[in-house]
Amino acid sequence: MTEYKLLIGGKLVDGANEMDVINPATEEVLARAPRGSAAQMDEAIAAAKAAFPAWAATPIEARRQLILDLADRIEAQIDDLARLLTQEQGKPLPEATAEIAYSCAFIRHLASYDLPVKVIEDNENRLVRQFRKPLGVVGAIIPWNFPVLIIAFKLPLALLAGNTIVIKPSPTTPLATLKLGEIMAGMLPAGVVNIVTDLNDLGGQLTAHPDVAKITFTGSTATGQKVMASAAGTIKRLTLELGGNDAAIVLPGADPAKVAPGLFAGAFMNAGQVCLAIKRAYVHESIYEDVCDRLAELANAAVVDDGLKQGTTIGPIQNRAQYEKVQEFIASARADGRIIAGGEVEDRKGFFLRPTIVADVQDGHRIVDEEQFGPILPVIRFDDADSIVRAVNAGEYGLGGSVWGEDREENTRIAEQMESGTIWINKHLDFGPNMPFGGAKQSGLGVEFAEEGLAEFTQIRVVNEAR
Ligand code: NAD
Repeated sequence: MTEYKLLIGGKLVDGANEMDVINPATEEVLARAPRGSAAQMDEAIAAAKAAFPAWAATPIEARRQLILDLADRIEAQIDDLARLLTQEQGKPLPEATAEIAYSCAFIRHLASYDLPVKVIEDNENRLVRQFRKPLGVVGAIIPWNFPVLIIAFKLPLALLAGNTIVIKPSPTTPLATLKLGEIMAGMLPAGVVNIVTDLNDLGGQLTAHPDVAKITFTGSTATGQKVMASAAGTIKRLTLELGGNDAAIVLPGADPAKVAPGLFAGAFMNAGQVCLAIKRAYVHESIYEDVCDRLAELANAAVVDDGLKQGTTIGPIQNRAQYEKVQEFIASARADGRIIAGGEVEDRKGFFLRPTIVADVQDGHRIVDEEQFGPILPVIRFDDADSIVRAVNAGEYGLGGSVWGEDREENTRIAEQMESGTIWINKHLDFGPNMPFGGAKQSGLGVEFAEEGLAEFTQIRVVNEAR
């Protein structure tokens, strides 16, 4: 079996303990992974703190070059990393390969930014300049749905700005991250990047630690609330990317043949385990049955299997706890609505669920109001677009949303009313490192990517000089 190690202070080390990592397609132990202890988390934070002054003083061009080298080295191992990612996370191999490729693209783009000094005033009275300085040690907490890509969202900007970092992956998907650690151990100065795994027991230590200046967290809103409370003691900087319950609104006049494949792809990528997936589709009554029929057809045609098998379009749910949670949603959907595709739990090994389409449900039903985070799509009938926007906005989430229709003016009118960080028109789930990404309301705090995302890894320092 391959050996996996933590990365602390530039050294690849054993964990104080070990833990099993389960392949969700087989329910078998894929690997024994190191499990970090509280002492090791302290060591990692201390190593990042010790590495900070020299890294912050390294010219940005030199930091940039190392980050770009990292992308090259990850790309050189894309096949092995993708295979490992499929085995630990479940997604089909082409999606895992795309995740590694996107990660490299994100790293490269994010490394291209600069931190220029801004001259606010320059006159006979004074020279006022604004600098952006690194914060210190950043704690990055990662979920299990895109274990590598979400690191690629955070790490390049944190390092480019001159911070050092401690990464804590999700307990169920630590392996590809630990392989990244092996790559980084050989190329980055000791302590600049540290990786410590846990069994959901060390995140709180990282978020409360006085030597950690900022937490960048991606995960559920419930955990995000704990992170925020814990960070309050030291007034840490926070970026929180949290849950979502994205609505797609399909307006009258939309073409069901065009819309249905877009809705399906937006809802079922990564078995629906995407923060920005479509989690409820509101469809105008004039085309409701047609769209439902087409969605059911697409669901029935999906190939749900081990992500390593060629032809698989949807892999298993990532872990048993989520698999059980999604089954509860299916049970409540059965009670509240009409399941027109999927909905059966097959008698087989692995956390597999077929894509499930639920018709005749409404706001107020659990399947519509809550984030399912699995392969389920409730489809809600409506007759008045404005009242639907009000209903969509009534929820506590505001991550993404989309409007589908042929009338461009009406699409824009509805899109502008949706209270979300990202709104798409006639598509869903399209994002990039040059577009600030963040959630409204309880979907998050702050943004990632783009110059705005880089700014969140810095402290503004204004130098105001008398003339
Ligand atoms: P989670 O909140 O259970 O776990 C996320 C991470 O937080 C894990 O690394 C976990 O070990 C850690 N953690 C657990 N308890 C902690 C604590 N008390 N303090 C600090 N860290 C702690 O989320 P998950 O189940 O891994 O991921 C699914 C959720 O993440 C969904 O709600 C999804 O919408 C959200 N998500 C959001 C985005 C986004 O960008 N907005 C992206 C992906 C996933």
